[in-house]
Formats: sequence, C-alpha cells, structure tokens
Amino acid sequence: MPCPGPAGVDDPSDVVIIGSGPAGCTAALYAARANLKVLVLAGYESGGQLMITSDVENYPGFETAITGPELMGRMRKQAERFGARFLDEDATAVDFTVRPFTVTSDSGTYRAHCAILATGSAAKWLGLPSETRLRGHGVSACATCDGFFFKDKRVVVVGGGDSAMEEATFLTKYATEVTIVHRRDSFRASKIMQARALNHPKIKVVWDTEVTEILGEGHVDGVRLKNLKTGAERVLACDGYFSAIGHTPNTALFRGQVRLDEAGYIVVEGPHETCTSVEGVFAAGDVFDHRYKQAVTAAGSGCKAAIDAEKWLESQRAVMATAKAN
Ligand code: NAP
Repeated sequence: MPCPGPAGVDDPSDVVIIGSGPAGCTAALYAARANLKVLVLAGYESGGQLMITSDVENYPGFETAITGPELMGRMRKQAERFGARFLDEDATAVDFTVRPFTVTSDSGTYRAHCAILATGSAAKWLGLPSETRLRGHGVSACATCDGFFFKDKRVVVVGGGDSAMEEATFLTKYATEVTIVHRRDSFRASKIMQARALNHPKIKVVWDTEVTEILGEGHVDGVRLKNLKTGAERVLACDGYFSAIGHTPNTALFRGQVRLDEAGYIVVEGPHETCTSVEGVFAAGDVFDHRYKQAVTAAGSGCKAAIDAEKWLESQRAVMATAKAN
C-alpha cells in the first residue's frame, strides 16, 4: 500500500516526469492511461518553449492556428484527466543512483520507480534587451515555426552554423530577401549546407559583423550592425530577426547522473530509443534531440518514453515475482 507522500502525492510514484512541454505532457498522458501513478514536476514556468510561441500552425489536428499556451493547457488537462498529477515546481536535485529514484523540489523529495527526463532545450540568444522586448513580434528562434509569418518580407538570420544555413534556406520559401549576419569571415556549417545558402539568389551574407540592436516598436523594422574589423556601424532595414546561434539543452540537473554528450544533450543508448545510461531513466524530446526540435516530434518522443517506461516497469515486476516465487 503506497503511503501518501509530501503534498498528498502517492509515494513512490510509478513514474516521475521532469518537464511539461509537449514531450512531458504526452509522456504523462500515455503513462497515466497505462494506469501508472504519474507525478509531473512541471516547473515554475510550466509548458516549455511553446508558452512563448504565438500561433502554432504546424501541430496536426488544428486546422486554424492555436496559440502555444492554449495548446499546452489542453495537453496538460488531457493528461490530468487520466490522473497524472502536476506540481508547478522546478526539480532542484535528482538521485538516480538508488531505487526508488528521488527528485527534490521546493516542497519536498519525491520517490519514483522510474523517471522520464523531458526538460527540453532553450534557444541561445545574443542577450540584447531589444531581442527580449520584440520576441514574438518579429523576433524568433525557429524558422519552421514562424517563417510563414514573413511572406514577402525581409529577414535577418544571425549565426554561421548548420542551424543558420538551414533557417536561412528555409526562410527563402517566404521572404523576399534573407540576410545572414555572421561574426567571422567564414562559416562553421557543413560545406553542403553552406553551398546551398551561399548559392541561393535570395540569400546575402554580411561577414565580420554583429547585431548590436533590433529596431522597432511592437514590430521589427531593422537591425543595427557593427563591423567587427572596421568598427563601422549601419542600420539594415528588415521585418524579422531570427537567432540561429544554437540551442542549450536543459540538462544541468542531470550532470553526473546520466550520460551527456559534449554539447550537454542526454545520450540515448539501447536497448530502446529513449533509454539513457541509467536503467529505468528515460529521455523524451529536445533534451536529447538536437535535430528535429518540433512540438510534434517531442510529443511523439514522450509517447515512446512512456511506453518504454511502462514495459520496463512490467519487466521489473516480473523479475520481482520470479524472485519471490523462488
Ligand atoms: P553551432 O554549430 O554551435 O553554430 C553556432 C553559430 O552561431 C556559430 O557560427 C557561431 O559563431 C555563432 N554564434 C554563437 N554564439 C554567438 C554570438 N554570441 N554572437 C554571434 N554569433 C554567435 O550551432 P548550430 O548551428 O545550432 O548546430 C548545432 C549542431 O546541430 C551542429 O552539430 C550541427 O551540425 C547540428 N545541426 C545539423 C543540422 C542538419 O544537419 N540539418 C541542422 C542544424 C544543426 P562562430 O562560428 O564564430 O563560433
């Protein structure tokens, strides 16, 4: 018989899910529908990156746009309907070295037989105050999500890696002119992606230059540029600004607990797609995916993690039953 844990949570839970974006919510939905006791550490800012996205037009099932916060609200309610319990607190520590695993937040320490890590990643920004002020009003870090809003407009993309090449090339579908602003005189992107961007008639490159300010009130109407070799400043008129200088996975909490790669992403390794280096700990969404980074792919990954977790719990119960019988 489980004891009621802190804040009335049944302790231990079958599954603790850390993160409440599309990956975490979908994992919670599938795990709860599998009749597992599910605790979601949703974070003080629950809902993930979609909470700062205005219109979502590429999530299947919504023929007209849905706002990011509304989509996330619906995902959460759907999981809650099947009994998943959400705590709007950040996880501050985890211990996956002993079972049951423990996850600590401000209100207490929670135990669970298995864990799904779905803390996502965050786009890197230059850190300009104007970037923050105009985010969602012409400033974006996701061309796939927001490119459509720049039909027949001029956009600037900052960065010189594969993301910048990909975002710039993608934006040519809509924009009349795409300018890549890069701080050096060569790209670090793969040769093939560089060639695709450099040979595109709609794409121009401004080398050795940084963006020092994004201009406009309530919308973007230009960027202030500074040439890093000459110090010369000028304004480039544009309607949109895309940051493409990389992403940082939100994995600081898991360092030393599960294997991370050089960039800090969780390493997923056999026997199944969402297994981490620790048996019973699974990963879902952008926390390990540095390629697709879409709400729909994160949701799919959350579903897979919940199925992997359920099957792993079943296998553990079978092992325990056999041990008891002997
Ligand atoms: P990245 O390779 O780390 O490149 C980041 C770029 O942003 C670099 O050019 C860097 O300039 C620039 N940058 C970083 N901080 C900056 C700042 N504060 N101000 C101005 N510029 C700044 O990141 P990524 O392009 O997101 O790629 C990450 C990984 O995902 C890579 O392994 C990449 O190959 C992979 N990826 C693959 C694909 C694909 O195959 N389709 C697509 C996207 C990403 P410097 O060059 O001067 O350092």
